[in-house]
Amino acid sequence: MKNLVKVLFMMSVGALFFAACATDSGMQNKSDAAYKLSDEALLAEQTMLAINWMQQSGEYRALAYQAFNAAKMAFDAAKPANGMKKAVAVDLDETMIDNMAEGAYRLLAHKSFDSAMWTQWCEAKQAMAIPGAVEFANYVNSHGGKMFYVSNRKVGAEYQATLENLKALGFTGVDETSLLLKDKESKKTSRFEQVEKAGYEIVVYAGDNLDDFAFTGETYHKLNDVRNATVDKYKTDFGVKYIVLPNPVYGHWISGLGADYYKKDDAGKQKIHRDSLKVWKKAQ
Ligand SMILES: [Mg+2]
Repeated sequence: MKNLVKVLFMMSVGALFFAACATDSGMQNKSDAAYKLSDEALLAEQTMLAINWMQQSGEYRALAYQAFNAAKMAFDAAKPANGMKKAVAVDLDETMIDNMAEGAYRLLAHKSFDSAMWTQWCEAKQAMAIPGAVEFANYVNSHGGKMFYVSNRKVGAEYQATLENLKALGFTGVDETSLLLKDKESKKTSRFEQVEKAGYEIVVYAGDNLDDFAFTGETYHKLNDVRNATVDKYKTDFGVKYIVLPNPVYGHWISGLGADYYKKDDAGKQKIHRDSLKVWKKAQ
């Protein structure tokens, strides 16, 4: 009886072994094309390390604290002109709140950005606070300033959920006077002017995109050579008036890589990424 059990055991191990080999050889016989990711999937996969970095690295966290420490010093040092009230204008996504969980979801689903899914994400109110953001906002609001949250999340479907998400995270002073979402245009100039018309001087701007700053008229929808020249033009203002949060996952820096970027299909976008690399011309 004992021997029979032994034989049956050995047979089942053998069967498993051959099954495994068959599966493996079957995989090897498939053409490489069977494993080729679609262009949309490849684009999604390209965000993985950047999302890992945003979500996990101490370096990202340190940069966020560094940004808000600089923002606080800049706010304290600023003296608004002609008795104007002191204001700070901040972007929301990847400046004050963290949406990387939505990016990670799309990465694993191999989907590129989708505005309907983005609205669902906003409605879920699961964005997290960027390290240091709540403390900075509340410092401004309790030290003679007013925070303006100027974001290209949309009025209408995304407004109430965004307001509730921010309040739940502990941001103060979030109401219809301070939460300025996108109505008609994504360019923020008119919303900055609206703040100034209300008697405020915006002494500090914070954002993860050059188009979050007062000079957006010079960078909006421009390619990276123009965007970089603009940064050089205002170089003494960074860390003093303009506070930049890092975002290697998305932003206008990507569409700035090549002309008509958003009109390209996914393969065309990848060609732009590849052609944009500055490559070592190694001696043979
Ligand atoms: Mg942003």
